[in-house]
Amino acid sequence: MSEQIFDSDWYGSDLSEAEFATLAVRAGQRRTPETEHAEPIFTTSSYVFKSAADAAARFAGDIPGNVYSRYTNPTVRTFEERIAALEKGEQAVATASGMAAILSTCMALLKAGDHIVCSRSVFGTTTNIFDKVLRKFAIDTTFVDLVNIESWQAAIKPNTKMLFLETPSNPLSETADIRQLAELAHQHDALLVVDNCFCTPALQQPLTLGADVVVHSATKFLDGQGRCVGGVAVGRSELMNEVLGVIRTAGPCMSPFNAWVFLKGLETLSLRMERHCSNTLALAEWLAQQPGIKTVHYAGLTSHPQHELAKQQQKAFGGVLSFEVTGGKAEAWQFIDATKVVSITANLGDAKTTITHPATTTHCRLSPEDRANAGIKDSLIRVAVGLEAIDDLKADMARGLAAINK
Ligand SMILES: *Cc1c(COP(=O)(O)O)cnc(C)c1O
Repeated sequence: MSEQIFDSDWYGSDLSEAEFATLAVRAGQRRTPETEHAEPIFTTSSYVFKSAADAAARFAGDIPGNVYSRYTNPTVRTFEERIAALEKGEQAVATASGMAAILSTCMALLKAGDHIVCSRSVFGTTTNIFDKVLRKFAIDTTFVDLVNIESWQAAIKPNTKMLFLETPSNPLSETADIRQLAELAHQHDALLVVDNCFCTPALQQPLTLGADVVVHSATKFLDGQGRCVGGVAVGRSELMNEVLGVIRTAGPCMSPFNAWVFLKGLETLSLRMERHCSNTLALAEWLAQQPGIKTVHYAGLTSHPQHELAKQQQKAFGGVLSFEVTGGKAEAWQFIDATKVVSITANLGDAKTTITHPATTTHCRLSPEDRANAGIKDSLIRVAVGLEAIDDLKADMARGLAAINK
């Protein structure tokens, strides 16, 4: 049976000319002899060999093929090939979480004695990896202002091997010039690593702007419906093979079931990002006109300091905004507690809109001084805008406003 239908025309689609939306639906899929249309989930830990000699050859890497699912798994590979196609990278390595992607990238590409320059405005746990975990292994990090190129330049040392950033930043939507930072990194023989979680490749492709590695928390927009935890690193094969070496050895690999959920998420990525972005822009413009709102932070607003850069670097402005209410923590909490549709949770990148008070949740471990430096005021509220009807979201924010304006 398999010989007849399992020829090369059948194997998968010819995607050599395909655009983003097509790749998001089809890249990486290889049909099995069962002729399935949807991607199968290979929930298997190990694989069977035709003979002892076949086993020996696959273990030695003399012939390709699966050996064990900590090394390779067909469903995970489909996810890796699809995300590599979307990010325009040579190779991707899937991981158990976004943090595993970041840690594995550092373990693979750095060694004791190396130095990192990292944006101050990165995910809190990412700061902890650099500040706490890697320091134990004699890798030092200097934290700098994301949007100030002089502060990056000033922090570079002879042993700097990596520049790390997220753009746009969370929750203030600050935007850094990836091309400029890639040039700076390369002048000093360092790598530029970009966490592209907030934009996804649908809005921004850092590798095409000169970045060396893109990392993701697939947990967020790539899944898009808040179901699974996962991550991925993408870049040149020469670098990704090093990352793969760490994953295979240390073990933070992605489960086949999660890879399948992320594949399904990627199929709707373009559509979802369009709606996330149009909803967020509409809500930002509306909030900016309301009494009781002091400032709205969203790069889509012409008033945002990096609006022009974001417009040129990204396809749209993303699905996360933040704003300051008049008053402080009490008013921010009253606003949040008066909402009835959105969810009070710190997660983001979900079809369901979420609302959170950064100063007492995502940024609560910072000292009050560090929080002030980072612009995380007690009056600040973050909204990760989902896919609900925009009028329902405005009505919910109006409930929040009514609670503080009374
Ligand atoms: C959530 C997040 C991470 C961590 O990802 P996990 O999947 O939770 O490990 C890293 N970077 C950014 C920007 C995130 O939002």
